[in-house]
Amino acid sequence: MSREQRTVKVTPIQGEPLRYRVESWSQKKEPHTVDLDSYDKHPECSCDHYKFKIKKNLDNDHPLWVKGLTMCRHMEAAYRYFAAKQIYYISEHINQGQTNEDK
Ligand SMILES: [Zn+2]
Repeated sequence: MSREQRTVKVTPIQGEPLRYRVESWSQKKEPHTVDLDSYDKHPECSCDHYKFKIKKNLDNDHPLWVKGLTMCRHMEAAYRYFAAKQIYYISEHINQGQTNEDK
């Protein structure tokens, strides 16, 4: 499987909401740390791509949420994880609401 196709593990950091460890695609490095609410409400990552490119683009007011420009792949993975969990919780809440109304 190529590096691009490989899935990576996203793990929430216990006691630190909106912070995640995201496995490196190269697998050789320690997982990266993504903070979804760090850079003026924009995510921040501990990877070199963020450090040397993304951060500069953010500082230069490039459009937000653009893959490769102002979002690294680790941020995207953390966002997907976050979104999936939120959808699950909202869906559970809606289903519970309907169950209670039916009673
Ligand atoms: Zn990153």
